[in-house]
Amino acid sequence: MTKPDIDASKLTITLTQTPKELLDQSELKFGKYFTDHMLCIKYTEENGWEAPEIKPYGPLAIDPAAFALNYSVQAFEGTKAYRAADGTINLFRPEKNLQRLASSSQRIMLPEFDQEQFLECIKELVKVDQRFVPNDYGYSMYIRPNFIGTEPNLNLVYSREALLYVYLSPVGPYFPRTVKLFANAIEARAWPGGVGSFKLGGNYAPSMRPAMDVVSKGYDQILWLLGDDHYVTEVGTMNFFVFWVNADGEKELVTAPLDGIILPGVTRDSLLALARQWGEFKVSERKITMPEVVTALEEGRVLEAFGAGTACIVCSVSEVFYEGQNLAIPVDPTDPDAVYGPLTKRLRAELLDIQYAKTPSSWSVPL
Ligand code: PMP
Repeated sequence: MTKPDIDASKLTITLTQTPKELLDQSELKFGKYFTDHMLCIKYTEENGWEAPEIKPYGPLAIDPAAFALNYSVQAFEGTKAYRAADGTINLFRPEKNLQRLASSSQRIMLPEFDQEQFLECIKELVKVDQRFVPNDYGYSMYIRPNFIGTEPNLNLVYSREALLYVYLSPVGPYFPRTVKLFANAIEARAWPGGVGSFKLGGNYAPSMRPAMDVVSKGYDQILWLLGDDHYVTEVGTMNFFVFWVNADGEKELVTAPLDGIILPGVTRDSLLALARQWGEFKVSERKITMPEVVTALEEGRVLEAFGAGTACIVCSVSEVFYEGQNLAIPVDPTDPDAVYGPLTKRLRAELLDIQYAKTPSSWSVPL
């Protein structure tokens, strides 16, 4: 007999008796404030997926010997809900995040789940807590699905019990300024044959010490380089793009390919699609190296560089520290105070217009 999968029609909702006060939007810091409720769905290999539950946000009861706590059997996602000018709320390409969650979790032997039914449950959670969805441009509701192995078992086999849960955090603009990166070729975030393309907590913990080292030096995030040729992969929590005139004299927007090293960002995919639709310059997913970027900077061929991810959407890079030198990256030559370069600004505006449903798009998924 097939075991039950996630079934949104079985969802139960228990509302909190102690609703939180809404914070003023100006006080929203990324990921520090959570809403009233969370979605929890339990799995056992024996009985399959249980009925989904929305219940008051609060601590989880988890066995100290659970796989998640010992062996990092944990995958997660990050996506957002946006409130349009007419008050309606849309998710942005959530199916891409759920596909990525499925791919990440299968890599660590967590069970498969019905992505559409899970999405229905997430929509219900956002509906229950919709009073927390901010309404200003640049503000949104961050949605964090987590998937953990909960079986208490110290044997390195796989977790036959799991918990899929989702909580929400209203957020404001992430980096309302340009960012400074520190290129790291010593440590590696990911490597060929590794798990860089999966969103696993286990990928992030080892990046914290190197990341905090660069923060203490005054940089925002690491630009991860890989291998002896210093392949430019991605940033701590963002994919990395360069807009330049390439060595063949062509105007090109370039980002690392999906070769198993980088995280396949939903923002990355969306920006590539927008730029390809414009058809105004070459758009490439290919490997570039830091020495190529340095040469292009010396020859004045770099137009802009930016990071892209759900949290920040896009942010212009104004500086990269590499091999003992601070390399200045042009932002906007016509405006020394610009926070976004012209292309970054245009991509950001087009994407935000879709996210806030100013521009109708199949990428917007209404609640
Ligand atoms: N790379 C890494 C390492 C990340 O953590 C993120 C954030 N999820 C991204 C890229 C951007 O991915 P997305 O656009 O899906 O948020």
